[in-house]
Amino acid sequence: MRVAVVGGGMAGLAAAYELASSGADVVILEGSDRLGGKLRLGSVGDLTLDLGAESILARRPEGLDLIAAVGLDGKMVNPHTITASIWTHGELRPMPATVMGIPADLTELAASGIARVDDPHVLPVPDEDVSVADFVATRLGRDVLDRLVEPLLGGVYAGHTEALSLRATTPQIAALGPDLLAGATAARAAATASGPVFAGLVGGVGQLPAAVAATPGLEVRLDSTVRAITRTTDGWRLSVGPTTGVEHLDVDAVVVAAPAPAAARLIAEDAPDAAFALAAIDYASMAIVTYVLDEPPAFEGSGFLVPPVDGKFIKAATVSSNKWGWVADTGRTVIRASVGRAGEATLLQHDDRAITAGALADLRAAFGGLAEPVDAVVQRWGGALPQYDVGHLDRVATIERSVASVRGLEVCGAAYRGVGIPAVIASGRAAARRLLDAGTIDA
Ligand SMILES: Cc1cc2nc3c(=O)[nH]c(=O)nc-3n(C[C@H](O)[C@H](O)[C@H](O)COP(=O)(O)OP(=O)(O)OC[C@H]3O[C@@H](n4cnc5c(N)ncnc54)[C@H](O)[C@@H]3O)c2cc1C
Repeated sequence: MRVAVVGGGMAGLAAAYELASSGADVVILEGSDRLGGKLRLGSVGDLTLDLGAESILARRPEGLDLIAAVGLDGKMVNPHTITASIWTHGELRPMPATVMGIPADLTELAASGIARVDDPHVLPVPDEDVSVADFVATRLGRDVLDRLVEPLLGGVYAGHTEALSLRATTPQIAALGPDLLAGATAARAAATASGPVFAGLVGGVGQLPAAVAATPGLEVRLDSTVRAITRTTDGWRLSVGPTTGVEHLDVDAVVVAAPAPAAARLIAEDAPDAAFALAAIDYASMAIVTYVLDEPPAFEGSGFLVPPVDGKFIKAATVSSNKWGWVADTGRTVIRASVGRAGEATLLQHDDRAITAGALADLRAAFGGLAEPVDAVVQRWGGALPQYDVGHLDRVATIERSVASVRGLEVCGAAYRGVGIPAVIASGRAAARRLLDAGTIDA
């Protein structure tokens, strides 16, 4: 029995891994000329570095499990430091203890000089979904929202708290209850999780896609954009390749692991309700500028976040050579700056030279000086991150219901229930399991 997986990002790879490991005959059809989607290695100076995602949440098992399953556990490492700062009010200020930006200690917050809580309100948590901004600003004021919560969410979703859904993006904040400050203090005091929060791979997490693709029983076809999927009497027919030379591929089942706009087009005929809901999911575009330098900045933390209210060019920076031992071991300084949030497309219309110069000027201002880079590379990520706007979980429920009614069709990826690598791996593996459990494919 044959299954086609549309899209060779981590969600598609995880689905394919699960299917192939269970004995199915799997083909991944990837539209671009490389696997991995938002995971990508590239050269900067004489180094090979991650130009997309670079770390994996270690407090969830799915990422680490897949790394171990494909034999990369020997390369697994944890960051040397994850101490982050906020660049605001003219300087880098160590981030105080928070729960997704909700301060857990007002004395520490005051000492940081980042934000003030003037007149906190204790208000019930609404049953319906609201925006993160509505929820936080009415309880703790704009300053905490603008200078703590907004930059944190900007880092994960490249989005804006005015639009992002409380339930989908920050359920930990909703779970703090009516008194956010007391809830955050209690949550931090009760935090029992131990061990490192993040993990990476020596040589970069961009090695994971190729390792997964080496799973026996798994075929990969690059430059194979899927243009249509059509139901046949006993399975599915895919139209694949350039418009000038479309080929057909017949399979028993399909996992659509492409981002929402492509998924919406592909399933419009067979799951119209899902397609309609998918089409409503917006994406933010961004760019990562990676600099290699010979001298380190006078800064010891892993990096910093920038509140949008401060009007800077960059939204965050990571000093990879402080964060990862394997990068430090190269003897070079490596800094990644990220640029672009939802609705800031004009920023990304600058050419690479302007983006490199704009981000470097911010880094120099934040660090109080920085040597001339040996090399810099701009990696643009169009359609980088899905925006979980208010009502997202209802849209996902609609998509899941609609797709579940179609035999032999599954969807997975960052558009649904989490954008982080462990979440998309979970999404891919769950989609594969549903196909296997339904007996659609006789693996
Ligand atoms: C710059 C950046 C940094 C990030 N950093 C981190 C991080 O450090 N840690 C973390 O956990 N997460 C990070 N994320 C988020 C995470 O990397 C992504 O959410 C996740 O990798 C998305 O996986 P995916 O498989 O759902 O989608 P994608 O990676 O987007 O893969 C989808 C694939 O489908 C292909 N495709 C699309 N249409 C078609 C079609 N019609 N036919 C065939 N193929 C098609 C695309 O070419 C692509 O390869 C980052 C994201 C970005 C953009």
